[in-house]
Formats: sequence, structure tokens, C-alpha cells
Amino acid sequence: MKYIVCCLLSVIFFMPVFAQKKKGIARPKLVVGVVLDQMRPDYFYRYNERYSENGFKKLLNEGNVCENTFINYLPSYTAPGHTCIYTGTVPSLHGISSNDWIDKVSGKYVYCTQDANAKNIGGTVKSGKMSPKNLWSTTITDELRMASNFKSKVIAISVKDRGAILPGGHTANGSYWMDDSNGVFMTSDFYMKQLPDWVKQFNDKKIASSYMQKNWNTLYPINTYIESTEDDNKYEGKFAGETNTTFPHKTADLPLNDIKKTPYGNDIVFDFAKEAILNEKLGQGEHTDFLSVSFSSTDYVGHLFGPNSIELEDTYLRIDKNIEGLIDFLNTEIGEGNYTLFLTADHGVAHNPQFSLDHRVPAGFYYTSNLKTELNNQLNQQFNHPAIIKDISENFIWLNDSVILANKLNKNAIVQVIIDAVKFKNEIHYAVDMQHVQESNLPAKIKEMAINGYVEKRSGDILLLLLPAWLDAYSKTGTTHGTWNPYDTHIPLVWYGWGIQKGITHKEVYMTDIAATLATLLHIQMPNACIGKTIEEVLK
Ligand code: ZN
Ligand code: ZN
Repeated sequence: MKYIVCCLLSVIFFMPVFAQKKKGIARPKLVVGVVLDQMRPDYFYRYNERYSENGFKKLLNEGNVCENTFINYLPSYTAPGHTCIYTGTVPSLHGISSNDWIDKVSGKYVYCTQDANAKNIGGTVKSGKMSPKNLWSTTITDELRMASNFKSKVIAISVKDRGAILPGGHTANGSYWMDDSNGVFMTSDFYMKQLPDWVKQFNDKKIASSYMQKNWNTLYPINTYIESTEDDNKYEGKFAGETNTTFPHKTADLPLNDIKKTPYGNDIVFDFAKEAILNEKLGQGEHTDFLSVSFSSTDYVGHLFGPNSIELEDTYLRIDKNIEGLIDFLNTEIGEGNYTLFLTADHGVAHNPQFSLDHRVPAGFYYTSNLKTELNNQLNQQFNHPAIIKDISENFIWLNDSVILANKLNKNAIVQVIIDAVKFKNEIHYAVDMQHVQESNLPAKIKEMAINGYVEKRSGDILLLLLPAWLDAYSKTGTTHGTWNPYDTHIPLVWYGWGIQKGITHKEVYMTDIAATLATLLHIQMPNACIGKTIEEVLK
């Protein structure tokens, strides 16, 4: 009896304590993940003089900067980048091997977020056949949803479909991207049956059009842009219809969809993010919410004009203002110290090869389409079929498995012929049979990156690495990314706000550590294929 009374008393006594404790678990009201597509960490410092004290500089001065953050897999493209940030794991484990791949079973080309069964909600039919169904693992945003029994809200936004869908994971309340043809934000029926009113109202304002009408001139007098090559140069691409590469760019004459390739693409994403915070009441409830914002116009501008262009310098001076605006807005709506923000990138970028050459840095353009023709001709002589190589893309030579099977060809012999044919070419650094990657001469670090990025069902057969600063030449102007080299794989990472220890972290950390660190910060499960480690230095 005494025992029962004692138990009852202790239950009555302790129950409110337990409830209090659970309710009192310290978490931020909101996590904001900001991805700046194609941002290299040197941009924090290169344009620093003209950044506001309240934009990038505030994050650097008051947050925790992980100066040595690296991508630990190949290839360094947008879809695997966004996925690795949010899943804390590498392509071999989450399945998003690249932006596009060839499915080894069906032989079909696949886009990372394509889903033939999905229907557009808003926007146009083609842009709506999208969902995260090709992603095998959960994201940190999925884990937050599940940890709160789906009471936490997750909203993901980008002009790129893949920049919204992959961070939002499988359980997002809404992932919104820009329609490829008319500059409106849309989603698919994977997420919802109809657009929320606030999204419809946003689209009705035709904001994309009013931005484009303004044309694009530099924010400051053009002669003050001393961090970049002079405006009129041979390294930059042009917008359709332009006759030269110089400012002002008459964006009013361009199709609305080209807003992505201008800083206005970042402005409209910022406008949309503010509406999402207000209308979805993010950070206002009892449970931690998550907003993922991916600014991808930095990537389009970088591709078109290159990292040494006034266009890119201007884009960063402008996005610094978006970052300042975002911090201001969050401080007003959520409250300073009530939210955690991290800012990173999905990959970096190379210089334009001609720019490098003109400054005596070894570099070059390589034509993989020519290589494909050359190799297929050689293979035809030995194996009597003209199309044994299906494609050379995404750092891989892809063999035509159906041809090899139907003609009973010896795949190992074909691989050996290809490797022997390419390995002594001047521009090619390594050609590696991925079935025997462990026996290759790749340095250990790159071998690990290759293995981390290799998805048996969705990767090519022979890894083809060019010399540093060489690009697969889809264009002589502008530039691209995708390689193991530091210009593509050294990324910015800064943490700010609730739970973050101010400082600078110099130890080497990886993109996959971001989700692991968030899981620790939020006291939730890591994503279900996470291999990253918590960056202890950034947490209080
Ligand atoms: Zn990207
Ligand atoms: Zn890109």
C-alpha cells in the first residue's frame, strides 16, 4: 500500500515536470537554409569592400564561418549538391548522381526530379512533371517533419525545380519553383491539389515582368567595378539578341523566363520567400519550421559571363542586399536570436579557359562530342558496331549496354580499348574503369570522391577526368563546373543565430556535415542515409 501511494505520489509529482521538460526543449522557431548556387567562398572577401555591414558581413562577423568546407564526391553539379546539403550523404547513397543520368536498367535519359505521374499545379504541364521520387533517402527537412509528428512546417523555394524539390524532401508542405516558360511560381500534385491563395496572388502581380522592364544596369558607376575584367571582353556570353556583352542589358526585350539569368531572379525569390514566411506563418507556431531558399540566378549569371565578369560582381553586390533584407525581415517577423540560418553553396565554378590561357595558366576546351565520334569509329573497327558509346557527359563515358548485350560483345574488352585509347591524350588526366576503381592510380582523395559519387544504376562506365582548368567545351564563352578541383568543390558555409557559437572554424569539414549538424542542433534524427559528422565548433 505504502508502495502504491508512493508511486502514485511520484507520478502526480513528476508528471508536470516531464511535460514541462518536453515542452521546454530548446529549439529555434525557424531554420532558414540559404543556398547560393555556384557561390565560391572567395566571393565573401573579393567584393567585401562594397558589401553592407548588415548582409554577408553580418553573417561573417556575428556567425560561425567554416572556412574549409568541401564537397566530398563527384560530380559537383546542382542536383547532387542540393541533395547532399539536405541529406547529409553522398550520391552513391542518396541516388541523385547528377542533374541528368542514363538509367542502367531502361537505358533511358532521366532528369533528376522528373516524375511522369506528377501533374503541374499552377504553371505549365511540362514544368510540373516533377517530384522527389528519384531521391532514395530522407532529408533533414523530412526528419524535422517526422520528429514533430508533422507539426513542423517545411517550405522550399527556388527558381530551379531541383533547387526546391530536393531540399524540401518527400514530406515538404510545399516546394515551389519557377515555371520554365512564364516566370510564375508553381508546384506539382505531389505536394498539393491547388496553389495556396497567397501563391496565386503573388503570381497575379506579374512581378517578373516589372523587374525585367527595368533593364539591368550596374548598381554603381561601371568604372568602379575594379574586381573584374573590363566589360567588353571575349570571355562572356550574350543574352539572345544581344550584339555585345556590355551593360546595360536590355532585359525588357528578353523572354520572361530569362529573369533567371539576371539578378532579378534572386530578387523575385526573395520576394516570394517573404510572402511564404508571412502567409505560412513560419516560425510562429510551437514547433520549429524550416524554410529552404535557393538563389540560383548566381549560377546562371556565372555560367553566362564567368567569375571574372562585372555581371557577376554586380550580382553579388545585389544579392548582398537580398541577404541584408532577409536578415532584417527575419529579425522583425521571427525575432533576432529566435532563428538559425546557414548559408552555403551547391558547388563552385571554374574560370573561363581562354581567360586562364590569356594569363598563362594552363587550361583548355575539350570536345567530348568529338571524342565520342573518334572512339565509336575505332570501336566499330574492332567490335563491328557503330554506336557502342552512348554518351560522354557528367564526367563519364556511358556505354550502350543494350547494344553490347544484343551483340554479345565483351564489355571488359571494350572498356580496355577505350581506356588505352584515351589515357595518353594530352588533355585527359585520368580514365578509370569504375568497376575496378580501387585498382586505379587515382590519388586517394579523388578515388574516395569518385566512389562517393558513383551510383551503380545511374552512373557511367568510365570516369573521365580532364586536366585542371580544362572544360568540356559546350561553349567558348562563359564557364561551368562539375569537377573534383577546388574551384568547383570548395564551398562557403556560414552559420548564424540561435544555438550558434560565434567564430571561425578552420578545420576541414564537408557538405555532408551540414545536415548532421542540424540534426544535433534540433535534437532530431539524422536523415536516414546520413554519413556526415556534427561540426561541434559551430554549436553553443
Ligand atoms: Zn548549381
Ligand atoms: Zn551551374
